Amino acid sequence: MFALVETFGCQQNVNDSQRIEGMLLEMGYALTDDREKADVIIFNTCAIRENAHTRVFGNLGALKHLKAKKPSLIIGICGCMAQQEHIAKRIKSKYRHVGLIFGTHALWKFPSLLLDAIEQNERVIDISENENIAEGLPVNYDGGARAFVSVMYGCNNFCSYCIVPYVRGRERSRLEEDILEEISSLAKTGVKEVMLLGQNVNSYGKDRGEKDAFALLLKKVCQIDGIERIRFMSSHPKDISEKLLQTMAEEEKICNQLHLPLQSGSSKVLLDMNRHYDRERYLSIVKKAKELMPDICLTTDIIVGFPTETEEDFEDTLSILREVEYDSLFSFIYSPRVGTKAAEWENASSEEEIDARFKRLLDLQNTISYKKNLRHEGKIEKVLVSGKSKTDSEMLSGRNYANKIVNFRGDESLTGKIIDVEITKAQTWILYGELV
Ligand code: SF4
Repeated sequence: MFALVETFGCQQNVNDSQRIEGMLLEMGYALTDDREKADVIIFNTCAIRENAHTRVFGNLGALKHLKAKKPSLIIGICGCMAQQEHIAKRIKSKYRHVGLIFGTHALWKFPSLLLDAIEQNERVIDISENENIAEGLPVNYDGGARAFVSVMYGCNNFCSYCIVPYVRGRERSRLEEDILEEISSLAKTGVKEVMLLGQNVNSYGKDRGEKDAFALLLKKVCQIDGIERIRFMSSHPKDISEKLLQTMAEEEKICNQLHLPLQSGSSKVLLDMNRHYDRERYLSIVKKAKELMPDICLTTDIIVGFPTETEEDFEDTLSILREVEYDSLFSFIYSPRVGTKAAEWENASSEEEIDARFKRLLDLQNTISYKKNLRHEGKIEKVLVSGKSKTDSEMLSGRNYANKIVNFRGDESLTGKIIDVEITKAQTWILYGELV
């Protein structure tokens, strides 16, 4: 029996899919990439933007003929999209070939839900809410030297544009001992780099009344033998503490790389977004981070075309890009999400204006990214080798401390090792080097 899990969306979803795969393996399924061969197909979905929804609905539609050919095929949908009632209703009425719908809170029940769907020959739906954390689920890590580890779930922030608190629930931090145990066992399987995940890792432990718990957790992860690199995301600027920045600067294993979502450079728009920081506060964090870690790699998220954004507000965003000089950014055109506050607001700008802004943002960032990459040229950097390059089979590919891709010639046996590479050439999105 074969099963296929397709993931849409963020690293949290990748991590959840690894748990679903782990449960499928324990149930006796073998994993496949081939939809035609699969007896179970699960889409783990994202709700953050409208085009994510469109992609999932398109993919669901395309599975209809497979179900007609193989009536025993179970097609399931889970994740953030499935957690929303209006989406579950739409799937129920328009996608009759989908036999299993379960939300983010029901992940741990997956094996019994799947068995119900197989045995009952009728649709199984579970989008109930549950604020517990299920520990001990099997995880199908991909066997590489890098792994994602969730440290907390949910979000309390209710940014006015964001659906996450509605689909992932309130903040729940995993116990420190469970996280450390998971990372220790990963280290024993050859994992060298962990990415700690949470919607806002700076809130880690606050639901238990703890202070600076994330910085303390990081220090403990640094003590695990075999773990050589630690990264984390995301950090909400309103909660980031000096203690965390100091910990990053002090601990060699914590990469000097910080993803600090800005969203907008305009204090007025930030207020409308309910972000709880303004331009000045954000820039003061960046200043402190650069003082403590002069080589820090900074990345961010930007939303273009938020309903109240004017041309002047957008200029404020561009000016922060010039001032901070991010290494790269994740930028998106605003997309209203049903149920959020901002979805009820009229757009201050036309679609053409927003598209033109988006292009200007990308053009500026490309120039900055290239300039930032040039700074690596001539340096010898530690690279964690992930294997053959996806774009050039003659090359190996890996990541430096800044999480930038470095391609170089070398033997495939270096995969999984951290080695020295001299950076010889920079491009906007990639670095090239030579093995030292
Ligand atoms: S911090 Fe804001 S943007 Fe991030 S997940 Fe929470 S509500 Fe969404």
